[in-house]
Amino acid sequence: ASGKAELTPLQADKIAQHPCYSRSAHHRYARMHLAVAPACNLQCHYCNRKYDCSNESRPGVVSEVLSPAQAIAKARHVAAALPQLAVIGIAGPGDPLANIARTFNTLEGLRSALPDIKLCLSTNGLALPEVVDRLADVGVDHVTVTVNALDADIAAQIYPWLWFDGERLEGLEAAALLLARQEEGIRKLTARGIMVKINSVLIPGINDRHLPAVSEKAREWGAMLHNVMPLISRPEHGTVFGLQGQREPSAREVAEVRANCGMSMPQMAHCHQCRADAIGMLGEDRSQSFPLSAIPQTA
Ligand code: SF4
Ligand code: SF4
Repeated sequence: ASGKAELTPLQADKIAQHPCYSRSAHHRYARMHLAVAPACNLQCHYCNRKYDCSNESRPGVVSEVLSPAQAIAKARHVAAALPQLAVIGIAGPGDPLANIARTFNTLEGLRSALPDIKLCLSTNGLALPEVVDRLADVGVDHVTVTVNALDADIAAQIYPWLWFDGERLEGLEAAALLLARQEEGIRKLTARGIMVKINSVLIPGINDRHLPAVSEKAREWGAMLHNVMPLISRPEHGTVFGLQGQREPSAREVAEVRANCGMSMPQMAHCHQCRADAIGMLGEDRSQSFPLSAIPQTA
């Protein structure tokens, strides 16, 4: 009624311990990303493959891609050293669902090694519909899907191609398929009671005016939170795949888009665009304190 969408008390309670979903939790609970997923099933023009996936990410090389066994050993070690650890997520450096065996082996191992930890995952959504039941069964309760557009002609300016069923698709055909798969996957997730956050990369001149429509749809699909992240395209972060010369949005533009999106969906404004191997409280990255060489190996 005030022109700003808010969480219901029930939703707020469900997310109270997730530092990314709850503003108050982000000072009290820590999260860890496990970089077990190197491959991707599509190409985003803003991707700079040195980064962790922009689904959840910020430029900066992931220190090491872990095997599932290494990831589980690392998680045990960090959980013992960091009592505030509440959430473990898989966010890259590619797309977790383009690495099905590695991702599910990790999730299943985490579920039995650390039964009290919340599990989360982020994805571009292309491979989502078929794995929703599996995600629910292993106990993943938060999923982030990056939705940058609803219209195929906008999406085609962001995604040049993708791989689906062994075939490479391009242009409008690829864009339309991705958007349909994202919607189907998100609807299935919310129907299974999994909390969904939508990430959108704000790209000036491409999807900036379109993101409030993404927020409206996301609400209709049952998502809980929208996280508008500014494009990062400065050359010092490495060459982005296909957006050379594309400027980043100003802080003011980001604030305006978030305010417009906030009419229909609660907005996350405290995302730090963490690396795919980030560890610690939000705003803090202790990944360098836990190098693989320091982790006792189980396999
Ligand atoms: Fe890069 Fe996009 Fe794939 Fe993420 S989903 S790894 S940003 S191409
Ligand atoms: Fe949370 Fe954003 Fe970091 Fe993901 S990238 S862990 S949503 S703060």
